[in-house]
Amino acid sequence: MNLKALELLDMNESLQKTVKGIDTTMVVKKFLVRGFNVSPEAAKMVVSFSDPDLLIAEICKISKNKFIICEEDVLMALKNLEKAPKKREVTKEDKKEEKIERVKILKDVNNSFVQGTIEDFVAYFNSRLEKIGRIFRGRVHSVKIKDLGRIRGENVSVIGMVNNVFDKKESVVIELEDQTGTINCIASGKCAEVARELLGDEVIAVTGTLKGSSMIVDRIVFPDCPTNGEIKPIDFGVVFISDTHFGSKGFLEDSWKNFIEWLNCESENAELNKIAEKVKYLIVAGDIVDGVGVYPDQEKELAIIDVYEQYEVAAMHLDDIRKDITVLISPGNHDAVRQAEPQPCLPKEFSNLFPSNVKNLGNPAFVELEGLRVLIYHGRSLDDLVTKIPRLSYEYPHKAMEELLKRRHLCPLYGGRSPIAPSKEDLLVIDELPDVLHSGHVHTYGTGFYRGVFLVNSSTWQAQTEFQKKINLNPIPCNVAVYFGDKVYRINFGGG
Ligand code: FE
Ligand code: ZN
Repeated sequence: MNLKALELLDMNESLQKTVKGIDTTMVVKKFLVRGFNVSPEAAKMVVSFSDPDLLIAEICKISKNKFIICEEDVLMALKNLEKAPKKREVTKEDKKEEKIERVKILKDVNNSFVQGTIEDFVAYFNSRLEKIGRIFRGRVHSVKIKDLGRIRGENVSVIGMVNNVFDKKESVVIELEDQTGTINCIASGKCAEVARELLGDEVIAVTGTLKGSSMIVDRIVFPDCPTNGEIKPIDFGVVFISDTHFGSKGFLEDSWKNFIEWLNCESENAELNKIAEKVKYLIVAGDIVDGVGVYPDQEKELAIIDVYEQYEVAAMHLDDIRKDITVLISPGNHDAVRQAEPQPCLPKEFSNLFPSNVKNLGNPAFVELEGLRVLIYHGRSLDDLVTKIPRLSYEYPHKAMEELLKRRHLCPLYGGRSPIAPSKEDLLVIDELPDVLHSGHVHTYGTGFYRGVFLVNSSTWQAQTEFQKKINLNPIPCNVAVYFGDKVYRINFGGG
């Protein structure tokens, strides 16, 4: 967008406010991001129409060389819409109701303010210990650490949080803590190998025998998932993407256009269109825009240096998607919300820019789409996993995601790459298992099933940045996963 249009935005806004009783600001903005200005009377007409987004799309289509949209243009577009075969038989109200029913928000982040006092952290970690401890219930018969002294010579289990891990070559010492005390657990052999993969701060169960004030470890148990996970069949498609990074110079626009063309069933490949026809949901797992000041010297790589404008462009691109697809967006570390996880959804000033079929969620968010339970988490903690566990790599991000499920926590390590906001309840615990765990962040692509849960890390729409070059991260961009329960398609839209 050029500066001229921006200046006119303010002018138009003040004009709109004189149109009594009707707020046309959003309509004006929606025209502006498409490069049009609109007269107050025309904007008023658009607002009064039952489906403003549909009307705006039609007006823009017929007004290609125009600068200002007037009442005649609106009338012409209305006539066209009347003539056109009705794609949507349901009214806007019906549609809204239907959507609310179709998408159930099981869990989302509220905008609660946390101060981060010592008490907050104590409450937060207690919640983590308690919630994950519950997952072990029925499986592990455990005692509290303070009661260990009474049980001599027998095999015993404790559930606790990993405070520290000391690698002593022959053995590994795990410092384990519960609400009643701390104990050193000495692991050797196979158990030492497991202990070496502990990140710290995860909740585990340790079984062993007491020796002096320490415990000799026989077994380390992760909360993990039951093995009999069933794959739920669905009769619609869900498209998983992330890290669009709108506003970045590296945004791969041509590939994005190919993607939208396909999603709208307008690609040249009939086979691919057939897949697109069945798509009902598109989920974007964070880093919607590139943001500002996220890493050193980022401004050199930005095509749009204003965050508001970045969201305007994001909204414009998402508006190109056919309206019977419900789009769910969740933020990432590049988005304009607090960095600490869990992250609330985008504030209204940005989310209002998006068309009505876009649902604005927090990070993480747990949703149910016609019975399919999807856990969306941007995936910042994957950096910690890949750094700390040598067998993991960015090349196979879904393997790192398995570790999150095993630990039943989206961000096990506190004090790593991802800051945590210490809310009273630890919302990053995976207490209920999803059918799908969807992440992004690492800009590579990987899918797999882990004990019945579909794992997808959904690529990016940004070419390699200078920063990524420095840290040797090779993105796998423009790859899209289309999920049908028993079938998953991977479509590459180029740009790699
Ligand atoms: Fe990203
Ligand atoms: Zn990210």
